[in-house]
Amino acid sequence: MFIGIDDTDSPAGMCTTYLGAVLGERLREGGMEVVEMRLVRLNPNAPYKTRGNATVCIEARGDPERAFGIAAAAIDEFADLSCENTNPGLVVVEERPDPAFYWKAVRHFCSIEEACDLLEESAALYRGWKNGRGLIGATAGVASELPDRTWELLAYRRPECWGTRRAVERSSVFAAEAATYPHTWDSVDRQNGVVVCVPHTPDPVLYGIRGESAAWVQEAGSMIRAEEPERLTVWITNQGTDAHLIDGEIGTLLEGRSYRVRGRVAERASTGEGGHVRALLEDGDKHLACMAFEPTKGFREVVRGLVPGDTVLACGSCRHGALNLEKIRIDTLSEDTIYRPPLCPTCGSRMTSAGREKGYKCRKCGARAQEPETSLRPRSVQKGWFEVPPVARRHLSRPQVREGLDQRDTPLPLDPIETSIKER
Ligand code: ATP
Repeated sequence: MFIGIDDTDSPAGMCTTYLGAVLGERLREGGMEVVEMRLVRLNPNAPYKTRGNATVCIEARGDPERAFGIAAAAIDEFADLSCENTNPGLVVVEERPDPAFYWKAVRHFCSIEEACDLLEESAALYRGWKNGRGLIGATAGVASELPDRTWELLAYRRPECWGTRRAVERSSVFAAEAATYPHTWDSVDRQNGVVVCVPHTPDPVLYGIRGESAAWVQEAGSMIRAEEPERLTVWITNQGTDAHLIDGEIGTLLEGRSYRVRGRVAERASTGEGGHVRALLEDGDKHLACMAFEPTKGFREVVRGLVPGDTVLACGSCRHGALNLEKIRIDTLSEDTIYRPPLCPTCGSRMTSAGREKGYKCRKCGARAQEPETSLRPRSVQKGWFEVPPVARRHLSRPQVREGLDQRDTPLPLDPIETSIKER
């Protein structure tokens, strides 16, 4: 059976993965076999998410009604039901429902009614607390399929520590990543000198190590010196897989979805208030602004280095009509030509503009010329992939360190609902 839970936490505390970890233990204590612990990230632009839009699915063997009772009791005990925005959902189903629902939840938006319809069709046991919104995530979790997957070791804090400062030895995290990279990633951001895997929110997570297998994340975890965790859970996940990206075209992007789009750079990037960088892409007569915000740090230099005529594949979420960049692949580099008034052919002094479209004039001897002097500026960027640093990475974004990314230009898994969804 597959047990899905979601929407149990609030900004003040708790974490659905912690509840999942406790539930896994209780199912085992109840004599059931836990086959898989799955942590599934859904649309990062979902409006009601608390933090990373995570949902949990546990695959287990045993009696579904008993499992349902154990899970419901755990939700009653741990969910932060006092928060208006916490609306838990619980699903137990013997066969995975149609994965189209998962793809819709990771790439688009779903309603509670759609989730309930699918649960009825699937003969699921289910319950929603309060407005029941968590049923969307819980259904998506049990319907999920992972054509690509990564692992995360999550260490959880003892309850008496919740809300206090986390004691994790910074140097041990850098050492753990140095010893296990590229098989684990994003524990630290070396370039920016930041520990990324230790949250600052009041939830039970102590740290999370991401990597390519259960063995590698455990290896890295064994090197971390920190306060004694209450428990450790290794999750299989869709993190770092780009599951949220849809192949899109400029001019057709929908708000709140994430895309890979091709385009030609239309103008040089500009830097606005707060250090946010904006570049403009075009495809025929359609335009798309692409944003690299201040937290993306050095990535902004790449965007600033683009010049008109470059062609790129841009990946990111469509928010307020612009694409918030997660990474970009530069496919062709155009020449960075600098134009300036020419030297006077008669007296050799630098000419000045004679006015718009009127060519150039020598202020010294009065000679005229039509063509400017041109020179090529060396390009500051090269072809290839560039991504935001770990400190700004989204859970679902596939990091470049994962093998094969440079060569990868295959279509993404088919989006079964892409053709049928209605614009929100
Ligand atoms: P945590 O990471 O600790 O689990 P969270 O960031 O996952 O917190 P939730 O508290 O689970 O956030 O809130 C997300 C809510 O949005 C849930 O009720 C979930 O069912 C719902 N949701 C998730 N994806 C979608 C979607 N694509 N369309 C509509 N609702 C969604």
